[in-house]
Amino acid sequence: MIPFNKPPYTGRENEHVLAALKSGKLSGDGAYTYKCHEWFENTLPCNKALLTPSCTQALEMAALLIDIKPGDEVIMPSYTFVSTANAFVLRGARIVFVDIRPDTMNMDERKIEAAITDKTKAIVPVHYAGVACEMREIMSLAERYGLFVIEDAAQGMMSKYENKALGTIGHLAAFSFHETKNYTSGGEGGLLIINDVAFKERAEVIREKGTNRSQFFRGMVDKYSWVDVGSSYLPSELQAAYLWAQLEESERIKGDRLSTWKKYYSGLSHLVDKGKIGLPSIPDNCEHNAHMFYIKVKNNDERSNLMQNLKSNDIASAFHYVPLHTSKAGSCYGKFVGDDEFTTKEAERLLRLPLWYDMPDEFVEKIISSIADFYN
Ligand SMILES: *Cc1c(COP(=O)(O)O)cnc(C)c1O
Repeated sequence: MIPFNKPPYTGRENEHVLAALKSGKLSGDGAYTYKCHEWFENTLPCNKALLTPSCTQALEMAALLIDIKPGDEVIMPSYTFVSTANAFVLRGARIVFVDIRPDTMNMDERKIEAAITDKTKAIVPVHYAGVACEMREIMSLAERYGLFVIEDAAQGMMSKYENKALGTIGHLAAFSFHETKNYTSGGEGGLLIINDVAFKERAEVIREKGTNRSQFFRGMVDKYSWVDVGSSYLPSELQAAYLWAQLEESERIKGDRLSTWKKYYSGLSHLVDKGKIGLPSIPDNCEHNAHMFYIKVKNNDERSNLMQNLKSNDIASAFHYVPLHTSKAGSCYGKFVGDDEFTTKEAERLLRLPLWYDMPDEFVEKIISSIADFYN
């Protein structure tokens, strides 16, 4: 079976994890964590980077930082992973879902303004497949209405929008290092990016259980104490050590994924010409990271048939997301504003193909020819 995903592994993970093990410091914020923080701060670049145990928890920190209170409204696409909403629902927010654009599957920036009320506190754009949302329009709406923008950049590490790294545009941003993402910290992991300096100090406190321990370690206070609400949002040094091996090879991982993505794209484009399928579109102002490769088929039934057919050829494929507003949880979270013109319809047409770091060419070729056979 050609698997749908394989966690990225570059070769030096063992060495770094072993070094962390022998260092005598296993809990969070040791030498490897600092190396990772520094790397993101210099490479993206950004004001402050803080590793977290998951993207879900980075989003939860963001909801705490912007002081979400019961009744506040948060605008996001319905076509996303459930954590995008849960982080805010946990603090009492009502979620306002907005339709997506069919070309990128991202929240349609032209439909956001109609969803803004005097209760709106934040907009959460999700950069689907590592392809940027139209951030220029979103940031100007946020400025006009005094809203926070929190980028769900779970899939967007090393992608760019108008030459700026995703995650460096909103007030705050969250990334994932889950094993299904382009870079992993050993299976689970995440990152909070702080672009608005006003959040810098409090983010450290919230991440350290509501203590000012980070300031204490830097010698800024002579004892540490309980200063605010918070939780435990530090990953262990072993996770940071695993991630470090992947950051050292970040360009190689991105380049390899992009080359697989391009093979799919050119190998399947004859089916677009024949009107059989649709392929992803990358706007000119975006540079993507080949987080995923998907095709769009006619409808739900055709997708089931194609998946079955691929499975009988030993090829795994996958689809997502059930639009949140149509799900058991999401339907209690708030409301969809405007028409669901594309969210449900496009979600039912989308099929994801296997894509991982170091995927053999012959797998890609086999998948392309199986899909071509299906349509012939
Ligand atoms: C993967 C993902 C998440 C959750 O990431 P975790 O690190 O597993 O918490 C959130 N949002 C989006 C869009 C994702 O793809």
